[in-house]
Amino acid sequence: AKSEGPGKIKVFRPFMLQKLQESRTLEHDLAMALANKEFVVYYQPIVDSFTREIYSYEALIRWIHPLKGLLSPDTFVPAAEKTGMINEMGKYVLEIACREAATWAVPAKISVNVSPIQLSSKAFAGIVLSILEESGLSADRLELEVTESSLFTENDTPLKTLNKLRARGVQISIDDFGTGYSSLSRLSKLAFDKIKIDKSFVHSISTQDDALNIIRLITGMAKSLNMKAVAEGVETQEQLERLQALGCDLAQGYLFGKPQPGIAGRIRNG
Ligand code: C2E
Ligand code: CA
Ligand code: CA
Ligand code: CA
Repeated sequence: AKSEGPGKIKVFRPFMLQKLQESRTLEHDLAMALANKEFVVYYQPIVDSFTREIYSYEALIRWIHPLKGLLSPDTFVPAAEKTGMINEMGKYVLEIACREAATWAVPAKISVNVSPIQLSSKAFAGIVLSILEESGLSADRLELEVTESSLFTENDTPLKTLNKLRARGVQISIDDFGTGYSSLSRLSKLAFDKIKIDKSFVHSISTQDDALNIIRLITGMAKSLNMKAVAEGVETQEQLERLQALGCDLAQGYLFGKPQPGIAGRIRNG
């Protein structure tokens, strides 16, 4: 625009003010929502691909907005990451999820998503360990889902943090595998426990040879590195059968169960 040329005065247009107000309101809203306990944790099963036995539940945050209703994380997690609010929000999810899992009659694991922002904080390992202690959940029942981008950084805190937690028995999954830029050398610095195959590949497994070949590659790589492969977004029996044929150990998706609030009554003790 003309107004942005050299020597020109930068015009502050009304739409800019509107953008600024929108982001300020969202930041304020997120803080209020946390204080008012408007965030709830939903749980979705991850099952053994062959026996369908429940292996874990993934904790997925939802915002029950007083005016807008149920909001999915894609609408507010990015803003929470931008403002740093994700640290508090993530701690809240960890607390709720670990406390909930500690009451289950079955020893299924609990899988919790961790933002790269949380992982780059030096305080994170201590937070996780104190939540485990406070909830009474044993470390080997907690699994952290981290994305490749967490490790695609010069900062060595994420890797140190994950290695430290893993030494205490916490399991680590790489989420959305295949969509990021992780170098194999960086991945090999950390012995992960699981690789989650992004649902975009799973959805194309029956229609695109490329997707099938990528999944074959990832499951083969997981096997040779002694990790488990987890397919997310499994919706049909046909997808499941193809995944079984490739030796994919674990599966998650609407075929087995959608994310649901609290699992009280179904698997809670008593
Ligand atoms: P994700 O970790 O890759 O989670 C998988 C997403 O796929 C979830 O979306 C889940 O509801 C959805 N999904 C599961 N099965 C199926 C299926 O069969 N078909 C289809 N189409 N989708 C399926 P959701 O719950 O909307 O979460 C979106 C993303 O938000 C998550 O992707 C994760 O990156 C982020 N997220 C969720 N909860 C948290 C959290 O507590 N902390 C952080 N940092 N991120 C979170
Ligand atoms: Ca995840
Ligand atoms: Ca994922
Ligand atoms: Ca995702």
